[in-house]
Amino acid sequence: VASGLPITYRAPAFTAGDRVLIVAVHPDDETLATGGLIQAAHAAGAAVRVVFVTDGDDNPWPQRWLERRWRIDAAARRRWGARRRDEARAALATLGIEADAARFLGLPDQGLTALLVAGDALERALRSAIDAFDPSWIAGPSRADRHPDHSAVAVALDRIGQISGRPAPAQRLAAIVHGAIDTADVALALDAAASHRKREALAAHRTQLALSRGRLERMAAPVERYTSEAGPSSSGLLTLPFAPHRRRLARHALLIVAEGEGGAVERRCLDLSPHRRPDADSALPFGWRLTVEPRTLTLRPGIASGPLYAKIDRLGPRWIVFDADGWHRWLPR
Ligand SMILES: [Zn+2]
Repeated sequence: VASGLPITYRAPAFTAGDRVLIVAVHPDDETLATGGLIQAAHAAGAAVRVVFVTDGDDNPWPQRWLERRWRIDAAARRRWGARRRDEARAALATLGIEADAARFLGLPDQGLTALLVAGDALERALRSAIDAFDPSWIAGPSRADRHPDHSAVAVALDRIGQISGRPAPAQRLAAIVHGAIDTADVALALDAAASHRKREALAAHRTQLALSRGRLERMAAPVERYTSEAGPSSSGLLTLPFAPHRRRLARHALLIVAEGEGGAVERRCLDLSPHRRPDADSALPFGWRLTVEPRTLTLRPGIASGPLYAKIDRLGPRWIVFDADGWHRWLPR
């Protein structure tokens, strides 16, 4: 019984005919975000595939601790990535999923935002993984997740959904692993047995538990909450909070992935440092105009403007992985 849940929540109803694709950004996200969902899909007889976008190999602190070494070179990173793949397969086995249901894309850990802004490699890799499985459900990350790799994958999935030619697009479920989810469209309450299995699957991720056991165990919630990522989208103006005077030690950039007529795509990284900031009302692709105000940054669409994703990012070395804010989306009416 899903006690304590608002009755508006609905659980995903899987059937034996379903094909459920899990998009895990790093090994351990399959358990943290969807450990119960995978069990529910498997129990219903649905086909399950899990695509791991990165190997989670850029993870130096646990590696230094467990391998008792300071320098992490390329060979050490590869070895760590292989170890995390093994942990992911062990976690899936605990959740009842065969090892051959796992696919590893091997894209750069902590590098997915750069990949998304540089070109279409992230979208192409995800698109071929989706086409190869032909899912009826896709469970993956949310644009609002505070981990930049997670929100970048969410934007890529969103873009694929919009350009998909399938007659019936797969239903999206988006989980927030890092950060709070304020509105959930779907919630799955795990019973005691499923909850126990989820914790056992998490225990397979030994490298991650080494330094963060308490934090991860708190994140392995007995109720999994998802949004459909349908909203919120802006129409009219797109306004992003931007108060650089409070964070003047950091340099910021505006990241944009914009679509125009006929599916043309432009990607931009605009430096927002005061001396390099674009002029007021400067022009962007597809008729978009940008205005930087004291506390906000406003994007105004033009006649030829299609879907746009925008995020304010810090530039330079990052000591904290997590973002203050995720990607914002604008869709034409
Ligand atoms: Zn992750």
